[in-house]
Amino acid sequence: MNGPEIQISFAPDLHLFVPADRRGGRTTLRTDGASTLGHVVESLGVPLTEAGRLLVDGRAVAVSHIPAAGESVEVYGVERPQEVPGAPLRFLLDVHLGTLARRLRLLGVDAAYESEDIGDPALAALSARERRVMLSRDRGLLRRRELWAGAYVYSDRPDDQLRDVLGRFAPRLAPWTRCTACNGELADADKDSVRGQLHQGTERTYDVFAQCAACERVYWRGAHHARLEAIVRDALREFGDAPV
Ligand SMILES: [Zn+2]
Repeated sequence: MNGPEIQISFAPDLHLFVPADRRGGRTTLRTDGASTLGHVVESLGVPLTEAGRLLVDGRAVAVSHIPAAGESVEVYGVERPQEVPGAPLRFLLDVHLGTLARRLRLLGVDAAYESEDIGDPALAALSARERRVMLSRDRGLLRRRELWAGAYVYSDRPDDQLRDVLGRFAPRLAPWTRCTACNGELADADKDSVRGQLHQGTERTYDVFAQCAACERVYWRGAHHARLEAIVRDALREFGDAPV
């Protein structure tokens, strides 16, 4: 290839995506003279969902910029919290992120999730149709052009994944308002209206407080596992906007 030669560097938070020999700072790259900077960045392994500011010789440019000979390019990660304009903040999670989906729902965050693998094209189309931010650890999925928006999930540990997503997008937290099983919204319910669905021990011990408007699952006060209580408490302490 005999195109223009540029210098390119990546911020440390993007180093996991790029080849090892491009992690040390500025390196030389020969481009084809026709590809956009977005394409160049992606071809080095960085999903565009993870690229924030792009500077050319210190000046901000768009992904459509076509690098010219001698330019010096700096690629930064996304700023946190990241704004996603154009629709209420809601998410779509791929098949590997079921635990994260349930934890987001526990906190009242709209998190669609299919436990069956419906495939990348269908996921991307769903993200576009419902304007949901696609969360995934699959860079191929995040490269799909149809996505409304997307974000790479940096850890494979659910605790860290939750902190990553809450810190990155700062969604409004409303614990215990959403069905962890189906993502439906919970409505107030009293014991009489759902008596038929309760086991006897449950009926004696707990007061019903909510029912899913979508799947009719019943939730009752006092029955939360201590682990879930801890997840909610920790999330509110670190990311809640109101004092707990
Ligand atoms: Zn439900």
